[in-house]
Amino acid sequence: LRVLGIESSCDETGVALVETRGEQVPKLLAQALHSQIAMHRNYGGVVPELASRDHIRRVLPLTEQVLQQAGCRLAAVDVIAYTKGPGLAGALLVGAGVACALAAALDKPVLGVHHLEGHLLSPFLSADPPQFPFVALLVSGGHTQLMRVDGVGRYALLGETIDDAAGEAFDKSAKLLGLPYPGGPVLAQLAEGGDPQAFALPRPLLRGGNLDFSFAGLKTAVWTQAQRLGPQLERHKADLAASTQAAIVDVLVRKSLLALQQTGLQRLVVAGGVGANQMLRRQLNAACGDAGIRVHYPELALCTDNGAMIALAAAMRLQAGLQPPTKDWSFDVKPRWPLESLVASSAEN
Ligand code: ATP
Ligand code: MG
Ligand code: FE
Repeated sequence: LRVLGIESSCDETGVALVETRGEQVPKLLAQALHSQIAMHRNYGGVVPELASRDHIRRVLPLTEQVLQQAGCRLAAVDVIAYTKGPGLAGALLVGAGVACALAAALDKPVLGVHHLEGHLLSPFLSADPPQFPFVALLVSGGHTQLMRVDGVGRYALLGETIDDAAGEAFDKSAKLLGLPYPGGPVLAQLAEGGDPQAFALPRPLLRGGNLDFSFAGLKTAVWTQAQRLGPQLERHKADLAASTQAAIVDVLVRKSLLALQQTGLQRLVVAGGVGANQMLRRQLNAACGDAGIRVHYPELALCTDNGAMIALAAAMRLQAGLQPPTKDWSFDVKPRWPLESLVASSAEN
């Protein structure tokens, strides 16, 4: 079965083609991505209207590129999948509209995918794919969650952020340091040359076995330090960046270990944009290595948004018999959509 996946939930247009082979992990045949980062940079963040318009421009050329790369005709695609949510409504509508229009023209079924399920399953495309069950640390621009994952579509929420997401904490702190959008990777790079212990920054909710996160206080603390430094900020920027990164990473590592302890599971899967962070990977590998726990990550290029994870999630749901694709080409997007509600609601998709 060949599944074409289209991602357009935020500021990346992604298209990919995967092929299922019995019960095996689906194989990625080709993918293409266009990031709008440069376009949004002048505004310091994603402008939804511009994002939607750019998805419209990119999605068909990227689709052609993917099919050409895979040596596959459009008519040979069996199912067309798209990101149904969560994300920016206008941006989601572009991917959903194009997917359903293509499917209707070809008389093929469509399947709406949960963006976070895409992130969550993305490590299955790595050279060392995980096995169920595992604890998942989902750390993206809009979400920070610990989940117990027993199989495709079997997700139990263990804890989540009560305010900002980890990626948001990176981005907002970076902005306070005067770094360009999106700040996460830029702050991480600057942090490599700084002292992570230079500034004491808060690490909230670490007591009492709590698996929730809170990052809103961190940006206030970073702001306070930056104010205090005044004109000296420039000289201490790398140290403040390193201390900020250490505060975020420290909490993520400790809570992940706690979740593993509480569930008794021996496997950790990291997914989402912050999963590309090298300090997080080093610290998790060290802490989990000591505890005899295996950690799996997506390939670096598949940490942030992409079409491959959407095609993969659709293919894995089909393999698991969770969601028959339909030829109902009317479509619907869900800008807000909790991942835990996925199993119960899958019948309506
Ligand atoms: P969501 O998936 O929750 O809807 P999103 O799609 O915007 O949000 P992702 O694409 O998964 O999020 O990830 C983007 C986030 O990852 C941004 O906040 C970005 O700063 C952060 N990020 C990317 N690379 C790194 C890095 N090396 N270190 C820290 N943060 C990073
Ligand atoms: Mg993005
Ligand atoms: Fe994402």
